Amino acid sequence: MFKTKDLKVSIDTKEIIHGINLKIEKGEMHALMGQNGSGKSTLAQVIMGHPNYHATSGEIKFEGKNVLEMDPTERAKTGIFLSFQYPSEVAGVNINSYLRMIYNKKNDASVSPVKFREILKEKLEILDIKPDFLNRYLNEGFSGGEKKRMEMLQMLVLVPKLAILDEVDSGLDIDALKIVAKAVSYLNEKAKTSFLIITHYARILSHINPSQVHVMKDGLIVKSGGPNLAEELEKTGYVEL
Ligand code: ADP
Ligand code: MG
Repeated sequence: MFKTKDLKVSIDTKEIIHGINLKIEKGEMHALMGQNGSGKSTLAQVIMGHPNYHATSGEIKFEGKNVLEMDPTERAKTGIFLSFQYPSEVAGVNINSYLRMIYNKKNDASVSPVKFREILKEKLEILDIKPDFLNRYLNEGFSGGEKKRMEMLQMLVLVPKLAILDEVDSGLDIDALKIVAKAVSYLNEKAKTSFLIITHYARILSHINPSQVHVMKDGLIVKSGGPNLAEELEKTGYVEL
């Protein structure tokens, strides 16, 4: 469903990623691990089409389509979702209207506020979000945990085909981590969403069970394996790779 082939990525003129081959099938969960600076976020950004990240060679294909030819909005519309390590605040945007807007855009629909409340109900329950949260402004004054819940809510509203979660676990306490894991499992089971879970620590992987684990180092995937690779890394660290 998704693959990169010999993908090289530069920021300005500096090559950060030196040729990555990654294949993710429908419903598969992959973990991408590696030390800080190994190029994990760069890979996520180039997949989403961040303008500062240039694919200088290779390809990214999603359901047979050339992702590199799409603008970021098209990429989102085709079903790719990226959760950011540092979500931004958007002043004056009410959460409920924002979510309804992205839902309608994604689905070429014009669902009424009443109908949309119904659509949200189950998702709010999964994330343990109180309905008055929806009246707040996007990320304004949110705690780390609230930002993360908000992002997971966006993900549940969009029902992506491929979700890339970049360090979604950073700074989260165990309860918040469990909520993220719940949202991930829900989408994976209900919608067969595929996941690329980017993380520095194996901790989150004991709540989300990836079928494949990849390790990045200096802009390359240096090792791929099953779930026990994450446990191994937890013991040995990254240095021995
Ligand atoms: P990771 O997410 O694995 O921690 P990144 O993809 O953020 O790694 O970074 C990979 C490399 O790219 C690092 O050496 C980093 O210094 C460099 N880098 C990241 N962002 C920029 C940028 N905006 N400009 C220049 N270099 C960058
Ligand atoms: Mg990063």
